[in-house]
Amino acid sequence: MNCEEAQELITALIDDELSERESASIKSHLEQCVRCQAMHQQERALKAEVRMAAASVTAPADLRKKILLGLGSVPEQGGIPKEREGPGWLSQLALRPVFVFALLLLLLLPAVYLMRPKELSIPLFALESHQKIVERSLAYVAEENEEKLKAELLRSVEGRFAPMGYDLSMMGLRPVGGTVQEISGRKILVTLYEGTAPSLTCYTFLGTEGDVPKEAALFTDPEKRIDFYTFSRGGVNGVMHREGKVICILVSKLPMPELLALARSKAQPTPPPL
Ligand SMILES: [Zn+2]
Repeated sequence: MNCEEAQELITALIDDELSERESASIKSHLEQCVRCQAMHQQERALKAEVRMAAASVTAPADLRKKILLGLGSVPEQGGIPKEREGPGWLSQLALRPVFVFALLLLLLLPAVYLMRPKELSIPLFALESHQKIVERSLAYVAEENEEKLKAELLRSVEGRFAPMGYDLSMMGLRPVGGTVQEISGRKILVTLYEGTAPSLTCYTFLGTEGDVPKEAALFTDPEKRIDFYTFSRGGVNGVMHREGKVICILVSKLPMPELLALARSKAQPTPPPL
């Protein structure tokens, strides 16, 4: 057996899925090959870690009990471990590095999970920030000159993409200002429209279908051949669609059918690649 063959079988060996002959053959290779041996050890450690993490997330109480049982400090019936003779318990711990490691992992994992920054979804951010922008409680630049506003927003992303800049005057809405927000390193251009209809915010950013929220409903415009995704939260509606690499989300308290109709009337089919 050569290294390539051995490495293909390492995972199966760890999962105990090999025939006796294959298993004997790879084991004899591992005995003489340091490289494959290291790989085998690495993979086994990784698997153990993953198993441990999964166990502590789904059944931490159970795992805790198992670990304590392993330490011999839990009575058969479970329950509260009885007070153990201090130094004896400690020396027993020291003799079991694996259990110490497992205990540490058990203590640290929840903290690691809590500290891991949750990826913030831009569409949900759009729904949540809409009201703040309408109330002016989010940093916001007032600019009623449409061209100036557009130029300002464009400049903030070094001209990489422009705000959609829809003309909503038919609905009695005019752009009155905007802001640039940043989420996970991505800049989002926000334009606020106000007037006689419920206020509307337009979010423009570079993205993909991967940004579509899980709970969104899909509507495909048969003529324009554009997919629209609709989603709501707390009486605020959002309609999202993509034009090339640019994503646009319209957010408003307008009824969803009206907001969707508006998005459909303004959306441009994806331009052909340059
Ligand atoms: Zn090898």
